Amino acid sequence: MAERTLNPFEIAQRQIAEACKALGLEPAVYEILKQPKRFLEVSFPVRMDDGSIQVFTGWRSQHTDALGPCKGGLRFHPESYADEVKALSMWMTFKCATLGLPYGGGKGGIRCDVKKMSQGEIERMSRAFMEAISPIVGPEKDIPAPDVYTNPQIMAWMTDEFSRLKGYNAFGVLTGKPLIIGGSAGRGTATARGCVFVVREAARKLGINMKGATVVVQGFGNAGSFAAQLIQDLGAKVIAANDSKGAAFNPKGMDARELAEHKSKTGSVKGFPGSRDMSNDELLSLECDILIPAALENQITSKNVSGVKARIIGEAANGPTTPEADEVLYKKGVLVLPDILASAGGVTVSYFEWVQNLMNFYWTEEEVNSRLERMMVQAFEAIYDLHERKGVSMRDAAYMNAVNRVAQAMRVRGWI
Ligand code: GLU
Repeated sequence: MAERTLNPFEIAQRQIAEACKALGLEPAVYEILKQPKRFLEVSFPVRMDDGSIQVFTGWRSQHTDALGPCKGGLRFHPESYADEVKALSMWMTFKCATLGLPYGGGKGGIRCDVKKMSQGEIERMSRAFMEAISPIVGPEKDIPAPDVYTNPQIMAWMTDEFSRLKGYNAFGVLTGKPLIIGGSAGRGTATARGCVFVVREAARKLGINMKGATVVVQGFGNAGSFAAQLIQDLGAKVIAANDSKGAAFNPKGMDARELAEHKSKTGSVKGFPGSRDMSNDELLSLECDILIPAALENQITSKNVSGVKARIIGEAANGPTTPEADEVLYKKGVLVLPDILASAGGVTVSYFEWVQNLMNFYWTEEEVNSRLERMMVQAFEAIYDLHERKGVSMRDAAYMNAVNRVAQAMRVRGWI
């Protein structure tokens, strides 16, 4: 099978199988974890602004609740499909386990193109989807959150819809909400912040000075643009970034905040003064210390991996590196900080948000950020230690640690 058509669901299954084998776990662990425990497909009508009715398809996948309620984002993307959502829910299980969160993995999505929809259409679609999945979500069951092309406003509409259905405010049903209805301080920048914390720790291990370190960001969305700003605050230099419309490259470095402003004004990083455009493969091949893939899955593949020159890769996206490319990077000595660690800042602060909702007691941004830092650094240290002790990649170490935690929970619960 050509690598580009490699299905993320098969990749996730392979990762679990390898971790189970390396740990010598009982076969039942893989048999349980190789697919979601519950998978719901829904189709629902939405009235569009021109009066026509469009029927959308969406999914919610609950991989396992062995460690706690399922947790994970909702993606609105024109190319979303069932197997992608399943894989993403599996990765959420291991992401939550890596950070020691009391959650299993979940993920959802709607196949739609929000760029072509009005705010009213997006609101009606979001509410209809929430109604369709409401029997299986809730603060004790499964707690969705933002992901690609979803945002706090969408979370607010869905929280409102769920609360209407229940007849009371159930703010703990979703995370990533606006602050005014139970969102957490620091949630908006949490994925990026978490990624930058672990990149900083990795740089320390490799003796790379963050002052003047060169950084390339692939995907200048929520995670990518904040990661660029936060890493710049540590003294690093952002030399390139791209998005779905084009790239901005300037070997002298670009101001990440000005770049974010340029993108919000023009819709792309492309055309940033003093920079030049380049292809995605060219961008991934740039000479740099740190590469942050912050877009979608399957970006670093066997076709372009030979060009990668970064010393550290901090995966802010889910599944950006294919297993084939991963092996090549490991042999090349590139330190890859896997998605289930490097992109876990978002769900960690989502956990804080949910805890705050359950307690109805809210924390300051400083509290949130310092707890996040503590948890990210701790998780990094544990995985780095395992990676050194076992002589395996950071990804394999993270999977071994996470699968083991889930297996332990299943064992004490009497599932295996
Ligand atoms: N969508 C984010 C992720 O992939 C956040 C999930 C959450 O906060 O529950 O990690």
